[in-house]
Amino acid sequence: MERHIELNMEKCTGCKLCELACSAVKTGVYNPRNSRIKVCLIGIPEIPVPIILDNCDYCFQNPVCVQFCLPKAIEWKEMETKPLRPKVSEAKRIAEEWLTSVSR
Ligand code: SF4
Ligand code: SF4
Repeated sequence: MERHIELNMEKCTGCKLCELACSAVKTGVYNPRNSRIKVCLIGIPEIPVPIILDNCDYCFQNPVCVQFCLPKAIEWKEMETKPLRPKVSEAKRIAEEWLTSVSR
């Protein structure tokens, strides 16, 4: 088995510390624009949807962003297969599906 980042969207607070940590470690600058994880805030009240971009390299098996996620919305775990990586453009659909699932 390999380790991958597991996303637990329902635990995400939208704090965006992961974005700051990623940008700092990858570019030396605290700028979420440079982050390889994007936390999209969808709707009002906002539903945070963390999205891992294709250029995330798991920080060479030591993902820095995970260390800053206190609610454990992103976790470094052994998994059978690599999870799919949805695009940022899919965040709205993901938020809507989640909202439907918890509104039943
Ligand atoms: S994934 Fe974690 S660190 Fe990133 S915004 Fe969500 S709660 Fe904050
Ligand atoms: S694992 Fe590393 S490269 Fe990937 S999003 Fe987290 S901090 Fe950025």
